[in-house]
Amino acid sequence: MNYSHQELVEWDKTYLWHPFTHMKQYLMKEPLIIVRGEGVRVQDSLGRWYYDGTASIWLNVHGHRVAKLDEAIKEQLNQIAHSTLLGMSNLPATVLAKRLIEIAPKGLKRVFYADNGAGAVEAAIKIAVQYWANLGKGTKKLILGFENNYHGDTLGAVGVSPDELFHWAFTSLLPDHPRVPYPYPYRSKTDDPLRESLDAAEKTLQERADEIAAVIVEPIEGAGGIIVPPDGFLSKLSKLCSRYEVLLIVDEVATGFGRTGFMFACNKENVSPDLMCLGKGISGGYLPVAATLTTEKIFEAFLSDDFKKSFFHGHSYAGNALGAAVSIVNIDLLEKLIPTLPEKAEALSKMLAPIAEEPFVGEIRQAGFMIGIEIVRDRKQKTPFSYESQAGWLVANKARELGLLVRPIGNVLIFMPPLTATNLELEQMTHILLKSFYLTRDDLSKL
Ligand SMILES: *Cc1c(COP(=O)(O)O)cnc(C)c1O
Repeated sequence: MNYSHQELVEWDKTYLWHPFTHMKQYLMKEPLIIVRGEGVRVQDSLGRWYYDGTASIWLNVHGHRVAKLDEAIKEQLNQIAHSTLLGMSNLPATVLAKRLIEIAPKGLKRVFYADNGAGAVEAAIKIAVQYWANLGKGTKKLILGFENNYHGDTLGAVGVSPDELFHWAFTSLLPDHPRVPYPYPYRSKTDDPLRESLDAAEKTLQERADEIAAVIVEPIEGAGGIIVPPDGFLSKLSKLCSRYEVLLIVDEVATGFGRTGFMFACNKENVSPDLMCLGKGISGGYLPVAATLTTEKIFEAFLSDDFKKSFFHGHSYAGNALGAAVSIVNIDLLEKLIPTLPEKAEALSKMLAPIAEEPFVGEIRQAGFMIGIEIVRDRKQKTPFSYESQAGWLVANKARELGLLVRPIGNVLIFMPPLTATNLELEQMTHILLKSFYLTRDDLSKL
């Protein structure tokens, strides 16, 4: 496709409305328009190359233009691009379902497809609620969620993870799901944030188990600022769910497919949830694929002569053949990559260490290849910058000038390199990060 930079800029500004973007600010700046990628880098319409330090917003696993992934899509194109899963099946979606169950925590036996992470969360919530309804326990319809967690932007997902800034206009449309604190050691007011969180969850379950269908949780918190809970959080939560007879939904949309150094974050604590939501890295970051995995026990509660016990829910592109074909090869490649990840994550942690000494860095949090750098006005008091000050963007914009794309969420700069980045590439990326903090010291001090 041959269009000039000027044309693209004009059309972008005239026709596009960007997701999660402050459009007023955006329109005042020159847009960044990506035209191609290669490995861990992307190139813009002016020919400049950048490291993809967000893995194209947490999706990319093996880098861009991976020959085997490209090939999988081309081969599938020679067969068929898409064929529905409604009442029938297609080849790649069938094979991918088997592959997903082979690599998933052992209790998970069934795959329900969606085409985005929020859709996978919606399906999980609806399956959980209808599961109990099918069993004649229709009072169990609330979902216990955690503060700071993010589950996507459709109304059902927003209902279990409302945010004051993002969702103020929809408050009246949202159900009154209970929420408890997520263990956030850096900002917790107690000296045992794990206890605080689990006690609050247990208290709610004790009092309201007959109203609660499921607990939904991110095993490592992503979009709320990369919050890494103390070890044992997920396994203890899982035990609480069994004790009080509520289902556990683990949202692995961000953490799945190697992001934390494990195939799934659940693996680290040996947890097999009742429902697991997958998206983002499932296709290697190539095509919109998502899935909700569940147990045979839950699936069986929907097998009935009574039609209304079926799960009448679905998306037109569910089980898309091109997406499934590339996802299968993504998993094959990942199985080889996973054993190399712990050592690389360790090396990355050493590379990040000097950044922690920067005067406006409060804390660096890392779970494998998910990194959050919390920017604070005052390290001792941990005083946050206001959202409006856009402190994170000051640093991110500097990094972009220096050739690294990163994106802040509030005051937390998120760094999520593709998992195949070499140590040398990681060194170059972290060096740019350090330099970006160093070069914005003055500006940050004036905010
Ligand atoms: C990104 C994300 C979602 C939403 O996925 P989309 O594909 O953007 O709809 C849900 N949950 C978590 C944990 C995520 O990080």
